[in-house]
Amino acid sequence: MQKGNIGVTTENIFPVIKKFLYSDHEIFLRELVSNAVDATQKLKTLSSIGEYNGELGDLTVHVAVDKEKETITVSDHGIGLTTEEIDKYINQIAFSGANDFLEKYKNDANAIIGHFGLGFYSAFMVAKKVEIVTKSYQEGSHAVKWSCDGSPEFTIEECDKAERGTDIILHIDDDCKEFLEENRLSGLLKKYCSFLPVSIAFGKKKEWKDGKQVETAEDNIINDSNPLWTRKPGDLKDEDYKNFYRELYPMSDEPLFWIHLNVDYPFHLTGVLYFPKVKSNIELNKNKIQLYCNQVYVTDSVEGIVPDFLTLLHGVLDSPDIPLNVSRSYLQSDSNVKKISTYITKKVSDRLQSIFKNDRKQFEEKWNDLKIFINYGMLTQEDFYERARNFALFTDTDGKHYTYEEYNTLIKENQTDKDGNLVYLYAANKDEQYAYIETAKNKGYSVLLMDGPLDIAIVGMLEQKFEKSHFTRVDGDVIDNLIVKEEKKADTLKAGQSEALTAIFKSQIPQMEKAEFHIQPMAMGENSQPITITQSEYMRRMKEMANIQAGMSFYGEMPDMFNLVVNTDHPLVKGILTDEESSCAAKLTPLQAALEENEKQIDVLKKAQEGKKDEEISTDEKDEKEALHKKQDELKTQKEAVYAAYAADNKIVRQLVDLALLQNGMLKGEALNKFVTRSIELIK
Ligand code: ADP
Repeated sequence: MQKGNIGVTTENIFPVIKKFLYSDHEIFLRELVSNAVDATQKLKTLSSIGEYNGELGDLTVHVAVDKEKETITVSDHGIGLTTEEIDKYINQIAFSGANDFLEKYKNDANAIIGHFGLGFYSAFMVAKKVEIVTKSYQEGSHAVKWSCDGSPEFTIEECDKAERGTDIILHIDDDCKEFLEENRLSGLLKKYCSFLPVSIAFGKKKEWKDGKQVETAEDNIINDSNPLWTRKPGDLKDEDYKNFYRELYPMSDEPLFWIHLNVDYPFHLTGVLYFPKVKSNIELNKNKIQLYCNQVYVTDSVEGIVPDFLTLLHGVLDSPDIPLNVSRSYLQSDSNVKKISTYITKKVSDRLQSIFKNDRKQFEEKWNDLKIFINYGMLTQEDFYERARNFALFTDTDGKHYTYEEYNTLIKENQTDKDGNLVYLYAANKDEQYAYIETAKNKGYSVLLMDGPLDIAIVGMLEQKFEKSHFTRVDGDVIDNLIVKEEKKADTLKAGQSEALTAIFKSQIPQMEKAEFHIQPMAMGENSQPITITQSEYMRRMKEMANIQAGMSFYGEMPDMFNLVVNTDHPLVKGILTDEESSCAAKLTPLQAALEENEKQIDVLKKAQEGKKDEEISTDEKDEKEALHKKQDELKTQKEAVYAAYAADNKIVRQLVDLALLQNGMLKGEALNKFVTRSIELIK
């Protein structure tokens, strides 16, 4: 028996490995099984180039648990290790055997490079003692047993082993007993080893017999050693891609599209990315893409490796050129990773572009599901916008789709305002904004439907990108103000009429929380509705942005501001004005006279004080001024009270207000109930 010290400078390498090297202890299994797979692959390579002429035999790698002995054993029938190799590759841990091998078999070695550095030593994360029992493929080799209890000391001795290959035996530490549970282990095998290129067996297949699960004689193979992404796209059918998707995500709906990636130069990358079908507005699931390195599972966090918007996709990426076990920030600056990310973006946009070009019908049918990805991509990645703007679609309120360019051509003539700005009209809800959409359509305008979760942001972005264009929601103002084609007609109202209408309608708006109304009399033509409620585009957008963006809560707290536009051309409104004039005159005339008189006195006082400094004005004068202003306010309040009293008795005013609110889904509770009762009265 030989004894020795493991060739590292620090005495305490194992506690370091155990605590800091890997955050996740469970990866020991991945490391050991992939070493076994590497050893098997190496043997196959040697055999194929004639350097090994013996029988290959069954190359299945076996993982076994012995609950009594508290061991986990990983066995392979690969190349095995000689005493010298153990010394070189295991004892001198700074040495990585893969380099030697790669140097020797450069052209065949691609698939067999171990990329995990201190892989083998990760066994000490869960084991208090590790044994290697191994016999090299080389003729005349003796089997050897290496044993180490976690201190830098090891023993090595000859032993009996009939077959070529390696058994790694872990004596599991007391605080890691969980790994002796069959379920835990099979879960880990599923996670890390599902697609390893050599068959992996874990126990025996089970079957149901007499109501019980019993073991059969057949090995329980836990992996698919020839997964879809490693196969040629030409050999694969749609069904294969769908089946593989189901294997990866058993709970998901069928994917919309997939993209098979396969590059050899200037980096290696294979994989399949799927566009999943997402139920709109639900929380989007990032981190569904699994990252592999030569079919060994590494992580499901691909942030930093693929552009942010593509983390929404599903599927598998496999590349030995992505540095592992490094920090994310390092990853982002790695030039290979950058190239990979650019390549994937290009592939994704090429694929979308080609579906759009070759099968526009299918593209349009799936647009609703696709647009979340495309919009997110355009918002977050300039180079993707440049590609996607050719196939990104607008949808109008009738469900018709247009490319940005087609839509521009469609509306250019009719929706350019007097200043040469192109106005894009949109609705956020087809039902709630029905009346506004109809009004716009009657003018011959087109209205887009922007009801997706990212649409507000897209509107903002496109306004920056499109020249001399802006977007406005159909209920942002009355239609003639949304697209102003000519200078406004002069107001046809007589003095005081505007004030009267404002006071009358204002008094009849029901109390609403967090909503403020501004009354705006306007001549809109006899055929337009008597009352329209609009909401300023600017304030609404600010509030919407506040909901999705931090630091804008100020806007979120503000009440909603609405305009209640009273159409002074409408016969009903005209009727109210004439009726008000005759029925309020008796009360209003003296108030009006008093107001005018008061106004005069204020003017006189103002003139007298003109040019004087504050200290030159006497206290008496100041008091007088204050009294006059107070009087003025009182008179105004009295006037408003007269209008309000009139309006309260006028069923038409309240009815018109309520109808406009109703049309916007804003009439609720008591106000709605009163409206119904009043309506019944009116038709009786
Ligand atoms: P890496 O796999 O990155 O080289 P490891 O620490 O996992 O690093 O392994 C060190 C070396 O030990 C390997 O390169 C390989 O030569 C040898 N080795 C490990 N496991 C086995 C095995 N099951 N069969 C044969 N050789 C092995």
